[in-house]
Amino acid sequence: ERERLSRLRHTPAVTIDGQRVELLANIEQPTDAEGAVRAGAVGVGLFRSEFLFMGREGRLPDEEEQYRAYRDAIEGMQGLPVTIRTIDVGADKPLDKGHKDSHLNPALGLRAIRWSLADPVMFRTQLRAVLRAAAHGKVNLLFPMLAHRHEIEQTLAQVQLARAELDARGQAYGAVRLGAMIEVPAAALMVRTFLQYFDYLSIGTNDLIQYTLAIDRADEAVAHLYDPLHPAVLRLVADVIAEGAAQGKSVSVCGETAGDVSMTRLLLGLGLRSFSMHPAQILAVKQEVLRADTRKLAPWAQRVLAGEVPASPAPGL
Ligand code: PEP
Ligand code: MG
Repeated sequence: ERERLSRLRHTPAVTIDGQRVELLANIEQPTDAEGAVRAGAVGVGLFRSEFLFMGREGRLPDEEEQYRAYRDAIEGMQGLPVTIRTIDVGADKPLDKGHKDSHLNPALGLRAIRWSLADPVMFRTQLRAVLRAAAHGKVNLLFPMLAHRHEIEQTLAQVQLARAELDARGQAYGAVRLGAMIEVPAAALMVRTFLQYFDYLSIGTNDLIQYTLAIDRADEAVAHLYDPLHPAVLRLVADVIAEGAAQGKSVSVCGETAGDVSMTRLLLGLGLRSFSMHPAQILAVKQEVLRADTRKLAPWAQRVLAGEVPASPAPGL
């Protein structure tokens, strides 16, 4: 089976009816880029930059160290695009494992973009490092956990300021596409606003499920209620995909569901054409794509959304 899958590595991910599908890798370190290319990824859809910041006992990487790390990831992808998500710490991702998070409810607290906007000097250090690294390849910047219009505006203002700081230094930097993660229900419900500001969107189903269903994703006691197929979750995912398509902007999914082969057909049926996942899942998902016919999956997916038929079995299985 492993051998059969590995023959698919260089096969383009196209459905039976000719729909091209982008299969991207999620990575945590620059050195993961090599494995992503080997797995047949056509780019990095999510570089979780917080892993550069974790376990360092408070001494955060400076601009040079971050610049080198992002540049290494970009060069490792050999010309393929790299999506760098700005730091996403808090809740399930404490900066230092030893320091127990003292917040009342870290998942609802100062994490991700909230953490970055609370410390603009730290945030712009990261932004400058990414912008400089973008001179070496195709880079997409991605912001986690945005929920408010004013957060979007503050974030984009910080990007502008970071560029102005580099201009003032006379330092080279590259163009970046700007994208937002849709991982808070509020963001999914106001997707049109997000599309006014951003070039592309990436749905973080891990958090979107957590926040839609009020299920702490790290709590075993409620893990049985954590359901990617919950109709409310599917409705939000479907609406974001449809609205992006209507406006000609790319939407991908970068949560665990993107790498779950039992979800591939449903996501294709809902119109998703970009999936970002752990590199180890890419060939298995590609196999699903190659066997899929979106002309059959689309009407079926609408019936799943309406609750008329179960999500399994999918047509063609
Ligand atoms: C997500 O929330 O789905 C996601 C991809 O981000 P993370 O798992 O890093 O929170
Ligand atoms: Mg998330």
